[in-house]
Amino acid sequence: MVDQVLLMGRTKVVGPAGRFGARYGSTLRKKVRDVLLKRYSPQQCPFCGYTGGVVRVSVGLWTCRKCGAVWAGGAYYHRTEISKYFPKVVVRE
Ligand SMILES: [Zn+2]
Repeated sequence: MVDQVLLMGRTKVVGPAGRFGARYGSTLRKKVRDVLLKRYSPQQCPFCGYTGGVVRVSVGLWTCRKCGAVWAGGAYYHRTEISKYFPKVVVRE
């Protein structure tokens, strides 16, 4: 895993945020890393439960390759705090 990450031009400390080089300060890059790792990690489809088939169509719009469901989620993560509490409002099939 670590080797793969390094091969992809990423760094140990800030991961995918390594592309920003030395800019923006380490604290900010670490925050960006947390977001990006979440965004690129396999996510579970809330409809069929399949993990790894969830793709972001555009900002806040997610789809599942397995069952074809499309729903509105977060910009960088398929579920937001709001959709946990109001799944029927935020999630549309
Ligand atoms: Zn699905």
